[in-house]
Amino acid sequence: MTNTADIAIVGGGAAGLATAIFAARLMPGRSVVVLDGARKLGAKILISGGGRCNITNVVVTAADYCGGSPNVIKQVLAALPVDRTVAFFKELGVELYEEEHGKLFPKTNRARTVLEAMLGEANRLGVRILPEHRVTGIRPHAGRFEIDAGTGTLSAEKVVLTTGGQSFPKTGSDGLGYRLAEELGHTLVPPTPALVPLILDGESHVHLSGIAHDVELTVQAAERKPARARGALLWTHFGISGPVALDVSRYWHRACLEKREVTVFANFVPGEDAAAVEARLLALASTQPRAQLHNALARLLPARVADALLDAMGIPGTTLMAHLPKEFRRKVATALVRWPLPVRDSRGYAHAEATSGGVPLAEVETRGLGSRKCPGLHLAGEVLDVDGRIGGFNFQWAWASAWVVATALVRAVKPDEPAAG
Ligand SMILES: Cc1cc2nc3c(=O)[nH]c(=O)nc-3n(C[C@H](O)[C@H](O)[C@H](O)COP(=O)(O)OP(=O)(O)OC[C@H]3O[C@@H](n4cnc5c(N)ncnc54)[C@H](O)[C@@H]3O)c2cc1C
Repeated sequence: MTNTADIAIVGGGAAGLATAIFAARLMPGRSVVVLDGARKLGAKILISGGGRCNITNVVVTAADYCGGSPNVIKQVLAALPVDRTVAFFKELGVELYEEEHGKLFPKTNRARTVLEAMLGEANRLGVRILPEHRVTGIRPHAGRFEIDAGTGTLSAEKVVLTTGGQSFPKTGSDGLGYRLAEELGHTLVPPTPALVPLILDGESHVHLSGIAHDVELTVQAAERKPARARGALLWTHFGISGPVALDVSRYWHRACLEKREVTVFANFVPGEDAAAVEARLLALASTQPRAQLHNALARLLPARVADALLDAMGIPGTTLMAHLPKEFRRKVATALVRWPLPVRDSRGYAHAEATSGGVPLAEVETRGLGSRKCPGLHLAGEVLDVDGRIGGFNFQWAWASAWVVATALVRAVKPDEPAAG
């Protein structure tokens, strides 16, 4: 490889490609190189959003993220608001459309459109893209960096670490980036899988496999505020998946990591408490006394799920509403809004859509995401301790943090000129 560059970007995923494009646009004439260990770049973009790439969301706030300081997250998001993301992709020829929950997808419904547009723009701008260049070491040396990448060493003035997290390691993001960050003086908030399906103990979920319905899940970890999410839950042969299960998975993992006792509860009548559900059952008992309990519950949640709950409680579903004793009515109402799910584990990094943990935000400057440990190094994307919920938030973090880094690089190399954007 040509062995020098002004800016070397380590990791050519969402954040790395966006950083390369923004930096090359803002600093024409500067050489920008992207090194990636994978044979082909963008595997994660291609598999994202079920192959359709949920690029961002119409409303993105710091509350959609976990991890480090909400204030830093807020400032980074503010630097590249969603309308600018939409405009950016439009410039690349990728028009977006909105789906439920504000999710924005390319109109083609193909993630490949997104990847090809980004690679095309990077090429047009003269960014040098080097696949099969897995970086194994980054060393500060005489005011520059020496980067070991299998076939040789590249010298660069600035390095941007965009190596992602550890989820779906076969896409190339296997956690080596964390080690590189540590070698450059950073610490790590211990990583765990996030946005990952959960495995349940026992067998009772198995025959519910394939059923999806609206549920609120609560993760209650000892001495922690309960974490809640509402959305579609999908029962599977191993346990639970669907957006709501993925969204709470990080809390379960963080609690286990901290060795806290943790319980996961489901509210199958989201938005209602036990008293409201009991009142509904009571009203039904008076208007339809001959209705059977399992038919009454089937108005609130899928019949097979209702039957499974009644079985587990040992209450016959054929009980007539008029004959349902008060204590059973109360028991059923409580069970429907606070059903413990015996989570044993998650499906791990191989099935996780994100990683929680990473390089602490306290170790980077808010304004340009420059390393406080290693001058000249910047970090963007999932390698940082930020993880978003399902809905396009993780990509928005990648684009926004890439923009922040690119504008900081402009300031660093042209100190007399105001930053663009
Ligand atoms: C199945 C799945 C579906 C998803 N769907 C969505 C979605 O629809 N919307 C959304 O917002 N988010 C989604 N995500 C999350 C999103 O893909 C990530 O948050 C995002 O890709 C992170 O971007 P990144 O650039 O930081 O890291 P990555 O995209 O993971 O890119 C990191 C890159 O660094 C390279 N690399 C790693 N280590 C090295 C090294 N040592 N040397 C050289 N190169 C290296 C890797 O090969 C990779 O190309 C999904 C994730 C998965 C797994």
